[in-house]
Amino acid sequence: MAEPAGRTLGDEETAALERVIRSGMLSSVWGTEARALEREVGEMYGSRFAIACSSGTAALHLSVVAAAPDPGDEIITTPITDFGTVAPILAQNAVPVFADVDPRDGNLDPDAVAELVGPRTRAIMAVHLFGSPARVAELRALADEHGLTLIEDCAQAWLSELPDGRYAGAAGHVATLSLQQWKHITCGDGGLALTDDEELARRMRLFADKGWDRAAGRSHESLGLNYRMTELQAAVARAQLVKLPGVVGSRRRTAGLLVEALRGLESVRAGEIVLPRPPGHAWWLFPLVLPGGDAPALAAHLSAAGVPARAGYLQEPLNRAPLWGRPVYGASQYPLEDYRPAPCPEAERLVSSTLLTIDWNEHYTSEHVTAIADAVAGYPGRP
Ligand SMILES: *Cc1c(COP(=O)(O)O)cnc(C)c1O
Repeated sequence: MAEPAGRTLGDEETAALERVIRSGMLSSVWGTEARALEREVGEMYGSRFAIACSSGTAALHLSVVAAAPDPGDEIITTPITDFGTVAPILAQNAVPVFADVDPRDGNLDPDAVAELVGPRTRAIMAVHLFGSPARVAELRALADEHGLTLIEDCAQAWLSELPDGRYAGAAGHVATLSLQQWKHITCGDGGLALTDDEELARRMRLFADKGWDRAAGRSHESLGLNYRMTELQAAVARAQLVKLPGVVGSRRRTAGLLVEALRGLESVRAGEIVLPRPPGHAWWLFPLVLPGGDAPALAAHLSAAGVPARAGYLQEPLNRAPLWGRPVYGASQYPLEDYRPAPCPEAERLVSSTLLTIDWNEHYTSEHVTAIADAVAGYPGRP
């Protein structure tokens, strides 16, 4: 994904950039590209409102603003995700509460979430990890029962599908997307927040543009930053969006071939290697779970065979990140005085020993799949 051959950037994106540059208007406040991108993504997702912004993290910050926690309120989320999911919670003076995950796919375990809902809980942020659909229908029911906002972080899950056939993002009050370099489609950096709720959309749009309602003059209604997407980003993103169905379709085809190729392995039949479940998966990465703790050894074996594989995804799950217990703003730890995230044993096991990811790509061929399958089949097991 760091090379042109691993991306889908080409003549269409070049033409889009030239169109914007020749127009002389690079700002989305007065240009047409970001507004068009919002319309197109909104239509694709069947979402009433889409707000383009400068990154996936910015989109998540908008989603936390939409949930409107009071300082010190709690937002329940997963410890296995990009820090962009969690940083906005801290930025809004809220407290991230980490729920444990399903050991089969690393996605939030709704039962673990339910146990953590308390009087200060305001929102649940679910992540569709690696493109595998999280159990958001159950999380939405839980959110509705307790009057919480459900946010779906779909940064790794462009066109992932829920069991009811809708795209991941449809179950939440707000869904967020990322256009960062490594995602299914990219404009370098960029993001979108989706919602059907007019009031949440208004809050998010104001926060992305300094609290400034441009239709109303030059007054500032609320706290806001500058999270605007530029026309250059938006024009590239629009060209990428056209390619998205092909990108996801291709990843699904080759990932399906790998699942088929691995299904018959003795180690898979014996449950020593657990395969990902294809339904709805968008295959940002191809994960394997080794319940016996062999993920680092298999990752080393695959790397030696030239397969881009890594164990753990993170150095440590976010509930174990070094930042807890350190000052958050200046010398202050508010609102995290004496705060230590609770253990999340399943997440910790996944990251330290049972989870492995193989980089995936829309340009993989059946030869790549065969090479990966052969490398996995050749793993001798722990000495
Ligand atoms: C990439 C990513 C983000 C952050 O997106 P940026 O565009 O890099 O800010 C947040 N959450 C998840 C799950 C991601 O993969």
